[in-house]
Amino acid sequence: GTSCGNHGEKTNPLPNVRNIIAVGSGKGGVGKSTIAVNLAVSLAQTGAKVGLIDADLYGPSIPTMFGLENKRPEVVDKTIIPIEKYGVKLMSIGFLIESDNPVIWRGPMASSAIKQFITDVAWGELDYLIFDLPPGTGDIQLTLVQTLPVNGAVIVTTPQDVALADVSKAVTMFRKVNVPLLGLIENMSYYLLPDGSKDYIFGKGGGEKFAKAQGITLLGSIPIGGSIREGGDSGKPVVVESPDSIAAKAIDTAASEV
Ligand code: ADP
Repeated sequence: GTSCGNHGEKTNPLPNVRNIIAVGSGKGGVGKSTIAVNLAVSLAQTGAKVGLIDADLYGPSIPTMFGLENKRPEVVDKTIIPIEKYGVKLMSIGFLIESDNPVIWRGPMASSAIKQFITDVAWGELDYLIFDLPPGTGDIQLTLVQTLPVNGAVIVTTPQDVALADVSKAVTMFRKVNVPLLGLIENMSYYLLPDGSKDYIFGKGGGEKFAKAQGITLLGSIPIGGSIREGGDSGKPVVVESPDSIAAKAIDTAASEV
């Protein structure tokens, strides 16, 4: 919709993108990028046109998760051509800097980098443009909602982290800027034992309880385990490498609800 976010009545720089979705988290290391990548690829597997922006400028992981380290995008007439893999058009600061070169920008530079990812990249027509946000509630999140009409946000957490104030803060931030909350994904929910039973190593039901208390949907619970981590490290997302795994199916279900 055109009235989402606090984007107000400004001109939408991406009128040919139907759905803009932000994937956020309270803190880092909960699997936000893993979920954003797999949601994007899952949506592309259904035939949708999908783009993914790695807005985690200080810890870009999209190049590794797609097996695209050291790739450089083409630039034509001052427009960056996004790199495409598994049917997803990609943009990451990792494609523009050396991987051992940390980003040490201040907020305003980070904001202008995100704006350039939006306006200087040839996104074309898309059904979904997904933003893998940095953890927390900072400049980059604000820049996104001020630049684009964000249609919805997905929050990623682990079972024990829902007890922390960070996750509530992320939810509150999206509410404040009028971005609808599409739901919560609980990652690392349990470990699947060889006999098929579940070991809730980080406690059981945290995500469900939090979602209920906040009045948001629990979109899925993703187990902790080999296939999803190997996928991230080897550049083959679990929805590509092990589409019949519990993790991949949970992500496909969540993707169908966003
Ligand atoms: P964030 O974006 O929240 O910082 P990442 O997606 O980069 O987190 O994940 C952090 C690490 O945890 C990565 O090495 C990733 O492969 C791994 N990981 C994420 N989710 C799972 C899971 N469900 N099971 C096993 N490893 C996971």
